[in-house]
Amino acid sequence: MHAEIISIGTELTSGEKLDTNSQWLSIVLSQLGIPVRFHTTMADDKAAMLEAFRMAVNRSDLVLVTGGLGPTLDDLTRELIAELVGVDLVLDEPSLAYIRDLFAKRAREFPERNRIQAMFPRGSEPIFNPIGTAPGIWMEIPRPSRSACLLAAMPGVPSEMKKMYREQVASRLPRGNKIIQRVCIHTFGKGESAVEELLGDLTARNRNPEVGITASSATITLRIAASSNSAEECERMIAADRQFIHDRLGELVFGEDDETLEAATLKLMEQQHVTVATLEGGTSGLLAQTLAVAAAGRSNFKAGAVIAASSMLPPDVQTADSQNSISSETAARMANWIRTQHGSDFGLAVTHFSAIKNEGDISVCFIALATANDVEVVEHRILSDVSIARPRATKAAINLLRLRLMKNA
Ligand code: AMP
Ligand code: MG
Repeated sequence: MHAEIISIGTELTSGEKLDTNSQWLSIVLSQLGIPVRFHTTMADDKAAMLEAFRMAVNRSDLVLVTGGLGPTLDDLTRELIAELVGVDLVLDEPSLAYIRDLFAKRAREFPERNRIQAMFPRGSEPIFNPIGTAPGIWMEIPRPSRSACLLAAMPGVPSEMKKMYREQVASRLPRGNKIIQRVCIHTFGKGESAVEELLGDLTARNRNPEVGITASSATITLRIAASSNSAEECERMIAADRQFIHDRLGELVFGEDDETLEAATLKLMEQQHVTVATLEGGTSGLLAQTLAVAAAGRSNFKAGAVIAASSMLPPDVQTADSQNSISSETAARMANWIRTQHGSDFGLAVTHFSAIKNEGDISVCFIALATANDVEVVEHRILSDVSIARPRATKAAINLLRLRLMKNA
């Protein structure tokens, strides 16, 4: 069994939008043990679609299509499937009633064009869409002297597609004999090669689970992919590697899969019932923004944004009045001051960046974490331009807080 994914939309081929549906579908298919051999992304163009659909049905046993199910003239998927199979479109009354009802509930008039969304290629089966007007299409397309090609057409809107796949498409798909399960483990604090060295031959090729290592803005991620006959066996294999990684990397590890460094840090703060306030220079508000966005709806982040227009701060806590005045004392004063101002448990501060004399492109900033009892300051050296330096220093500051919270835990 081999699968193919077709993504339809001129907004995708023109470069205005990235096709993320193919990526997501490939991952979930691999969890069923179904390998994907082709991704085809195409414009809303009838000739191109017909060619691609013909090829897909011929060379793949399972074809998942997203997009082109809307009511507008450029949405061609349903007509295309009918033409490909050589059947006409027939009205499905329950789908029409459902779509009419959706419009009525929203107190909007039913546009006659939406009737097309209740039309299905003869011999296909509508797939109910509980969160949008476009139902999907399930069709088993006969092929001479071979098993039928299974085809599912789903809406392009990622949230609708994912829900439809999970609730109504996955259960119709055959299971492959090798299931693949993946987990990503994120670390912060050491570089890619240093992390790899700590893990010995864990990242060697031809190992199962396969463990890959990738770096993205100073976060080093270990991607574990286990392949086996059963989900339970995959989980067991992953658990063993996870344990090994935690043993070797200790507090470098901050989270898994979608968890960010800031979310992991805020989770620790929530568990310990502590608050933080921030004051920053070189990071231009990014530290406050990163924490505030991750903290949305929680109360353990206090600062709002005190973003250093240095001259507006009291003279003894200015983040940098002249480039050369930055020191660890600057950072310590900033962190203590913002903590006291807000009455928070922690004060977290980042100074401006300043160039290191006679060291070419290297600049430096200081990051300080203050509590009622002490203040810890680290020097943060930066090789890159400011667009990279800002997020790096922001992460380093958040990580300083995370490490302290881990010690307290
Ligand atoms: P459609 O079902 O073709 O009307 O698509 C509706 C919207 O979903 C498009 O405007 C895109 O914003 C989004 N979309 C469609 N296909 C994809 C895709 N392959 N990846 C990510 N977003 C998509
Ligand atoms: Mg479209």
